[in-house]
Amino acid sequence: MNLIFLGPPGAGKGTHATRLATELDMEEISTGDLFRAEIRAQTPLGVEAQRYIERGELVPDRITIDMVRAYLPKVQATGGYILDGFPRTVEQAKALHSFAHIDGVVSFELPDAVIVDRLTARRICANCGKIHNLAQLDDPSACPDCGGQLVTRKDDNEATVRRRLEVYHQDTEPLVTYYRNSGLLRSVDSDGPVEQTYSRLRNVLGLSDNR
Ligand code: AMP
Repeated sequence: MNLIFLGPPGAGKGTHATRLATELDMEEISTGDLFRAEIRAQTPLGVEAQRYIERGELVPDRITIDMVRAYLPKVQATGGYILDGFPRTVEQAKALHSFAHIDGVVSFELPDAVIVDRLTARRICANCGKIHNLAQLDDPSACPDCGGQLVTRKDDNEATVRRRLEVYHQDTEPLVTYYRNSGLLRSVDSDGPVEQTYSRLRNVLGLSDNR
């Protein structure tokens, strides 16, 4: 099963993609993570992508599509893959369907006001990569799972989050209609506790509750 996770920044795409991928032996492919790895390695692609990411803008379609097209043949997971954060424009969606088969698209929905609060409170473990929320941490500097150092993503400051939201509404939200029209779309209300959203996700995918 190959899935696309669609939704505004902070709607929980990454958190739920990681969990579902583990459960169903799927591979999670996050274009944001792929870009951040290129940035850490300071490759030419990373250096170019960084300029856009730090401003809350989308990396140009040409670069993003080529990166995903080159990555997909490397996927080994038997359960297929979850694309987290790709496509983000109609142009990317059209390109994707020329080189991949997609079985379903999940749209995570969340009001803008909740998104700003969530993202500015988001902390990432520099060691295991797990995402946490400041409000649920006893120690704001250490990962409760592995003890690694918790860091704030550079683009999770309020000004950049607001720009990312504008970009989402302008460039990515049209994909909701695009996929609704193609019959692939399933919507998940992402407001509320993580467990509740994960149950809703399993429901829309027709997975049983016998976990
Ligand atoms: P994310 O980790 O999904 O929030 O992505 C972080 C940033 O990477 C985004 O704000 C964009 O600048 C860039 N990015 C990730 N995926 C894409 C994409 N499909 N198209 C263009 N830019 C992307």
